[in-house]
Amino acid sequence: MQLNILILPGDGIGTEVTREAVKVLESVAERYGHTLKLDHALLGGAAIHQTGNPLPPETVTKALAADATLMGAVGLPEFDAAPPDKRPERGLLGLRKTLGVFANLRPVRAYAALIDSSPLKNHLVSGTDMIIVRELTGGLYYGTPRGISGSGAEEQAVNTMFYTRPEIERVARVAFYLAQRRRKRLTSVDKSNVLENSQLWRRVVIEVAKEFPDVELDHLLVDNCAMQLVLNPRRFDVLLTENLFGDILSDEGAVLAGSIGMLPSASLGDRRPSGAWTGLYEPVHGSAPDIAGQNKANPLGAIGSVAAMLEYSFGLTEEAAAVNAAMEDVLNSGRVTADLKPAGVPATTAEVGSAIAERIRGGK
Ligand code: NAD
Repeated sequence: MQLNILILPGDGIGTEVTREAVKVLESVAERYGHTLKLDHALLGGAAIHQTGNPLPPETVTKALAADATLMGAVGLPEFDAAPPDKRPERGLLGLRKTLGVFANLRPVRAYAALIDSSPLKNHLVSGTDMIIVRELTGGLYYGTPRGISGSGAEEQAVNTMFYTRPEIERVARVAFYLAQRRRKRLTSVDKSNVLENSQLWRRVVIEVAKEFPDVELDHLLVDNCAMQLVLNPRRFDVLLTENLFGDILSDEGAVLAGSIGMLPSASLGDRRPSGAWTGLYEPVHGSAPDIAGQNKANPLGAIGSVAAMLEYSFGLTEEAAAVNAAMEDVLNSGRVTADLKPAGVPATTAEVGSAIAERIRGGK
């Protein structure tokens, strides 16, 4: 199979972790006989430096032409005071919009080797393996009317939680599709005891469930869900929710994995005629200026994003499983970066990437 992938290293540790993710992609192509066609483009602060624009038109063209896009991270401290449209982060928001990605997936796994890094007791977190599916382009963050008006005692602010039926249906279908290929359990999270918006959400999810009769659906109110994530995280298989709730719950879920450097993500749009999803893959972490350029960053979030890409954009489940298994092997061997190793000599970013690529090629 030919894999046409656009690489957007971005800024700071983004460039370091994507380098390791590419090593892993190369090892997968070699071991399984795929042809890798990689293209590179600028995004974020690096793009502002070279073109004055955080999302240059050339990057947009290349992203639309690629089968899938892998991004590192964007953000540089020198732009912290810049106006919003001149900030690196604007490039990422523009890219998500360009690709039309509406479902954000965050897999959350408790790796046995990292169990002591979790703030939860081992017996609670052990065995946790879920995917949080967050709606990415609607809800309170985009609804209108919005804004602040008036002054003095008359000053007021409004935001609008808005969803249409098709917006709920399409993200629900992604979540059910994933559940069908996992443990066949889907938990939809809303606030339907208070919000009409959530009442529509719940009704539409129940209707979509009829297309997936082998998936067991249950519902949780968002406040209860926030508790259950720390009381009993193992109960979740696929967790589906709207934009704002998903933003908050996915960060809560992130803590379960031990380090932010571990967390991959995938943002999916429409399915193509081939059945593959349009996808943007990126680690959850930012550009980490405090450790950039020191070969210290944990590349596992970026490498886990490669596994997600192989699975969702290319349907290569065996290859994805091989990447996940190699990651777990390397974690168990103790060759981990400083964020996971409070004592002893940590491995560098490049050493972790090379060890995983080597395992995939069949070596040790
Ligand atoms: P951050 O995720 O970059 O860093 C937070 C902390 O986690 C830092 O101490 C950092 O050293 C550590 N960390 C992050 N990733 C790590 C890794 N892979 N390995 C080891 N340690 C890691 O968040 P921040 O400091 O709030 O933001 C820094 C910049 O990144 C800002 O400009 C912000 O806007 C940007 N940002 C970008 C994205 C993105 O591109 N998706 C996401 C979040 C933040």
